Amino acid sequence: MPDFPIWPQCNIACVFCSNPTEGYRETTGMYSYEELKKKVEDYKRGLQTFVKFDEVGDYFNLTGGEPTIHPEFLRVLALIRTEFPANLIRLLSNGRMFAEANFARRTCGIVGLPFEIAVPMFGGDARSHEAISRTPLSFQQTVQGLRNLAKHRLPGQKVEIRIIMTKVQARFLGGLLELLLAEFAWVDRVVFLFEEIEGFAEHYKDRLVFTQSECASVIDRHFDMLSRFREVRLYHFSLCTTPTRLWPYVWRTLAGFKVTWLDGCRTRCLYREQCVGVHRSYERHAGAPDISPILERRPVELSGDPYHPIRAVNDPTSL
Ligand code: SF4
Repeated sequence: MPDFPIWPQCNIACVFCSNPTEGYRETTGMYSYEELKKKVEDYKRGLQTFVKFDEVGDYFNLTGGEPTIHPEFLRVLALIRTEFPANLIRLLSNGRMFAEANFARRTCGIVGLPFEIAVPMFGGDARSHEAISRTPLSFQQTVQGLRNLAKHRLPGQKVEIRIIMTKVQARFLGGLLELLLAEFAWVDRVVFLFEEIEGFAEHYKDRLVFTQSECASVIDRHFDMLSRFREVRLYHFSLCTTPTRLWPYVWRTLAGFKVTWLDGCRTRCLYREQCVGVHRSYERHAGAPDISPILERRPVELSGDPYHPIRAVNDPTSL
């Protein structure tokens, strides 16, 4: 799945942003319609490669910056759909632009199927959301954008909400989940991503970094709420840091070059095959102090699916 950045600038300023800091926002000349058209055509002819996230299939993650503020966003979208009529297009967007109903309607109509959009949310109200997005009105616009997507999406087009789990985000999680259950329980999926400390985020790492165990226990505190969503996933969580009852939500999603294994992983851990491993940025910035081989079997049912390895927990009281 190629990550395909289509615009380097952004219309919010997330404290956890992993975009490169040095000059990236000023590279708009490399993302003109003509440049992107050439990349798409070269990719189709096998001449262009993108960074692969996994090998599941041949689909596009449209990223940025913020893809929807490309001056010719709808034209770029139409081009990709025309060249790749059957491929999944997944748009990673903060959703602000969809506050304009006509833009939401046209995007859904042009992109067709198969299509998914993943929108990050940070808080249950403007104060908490904008403490992370650092952009006035972004809460109201993202909420309106999601409402418009609900109204204008075509049957089969999916909407996902992403929660980027940093130490700051943990403070706002309860209020955010309450809002999502009250108004956005219709979304197809809620995904919790453990932070990747890269790019701009490195400047704020004292405010952001916490351990995976702390993070997983914050999510676990809201365990009863999770089952009320249509689907929940956890990305970038090592199994040894995560309570067993959350394991069925864990997905293995990291590209191989982002992962490392610590001593006990290779030699003693009983769940190495099912585990995503240790994110390199977690080892670099937090020291990965809670990574520890699992020496006893847990009461879980394995799925055989390398991306979603745990089907169920047989003993729901297990921690
Ligand atoms: S010890 Fe290593 S392989 Fe085992 S669960 Fe932890 S990170 Fe995964």
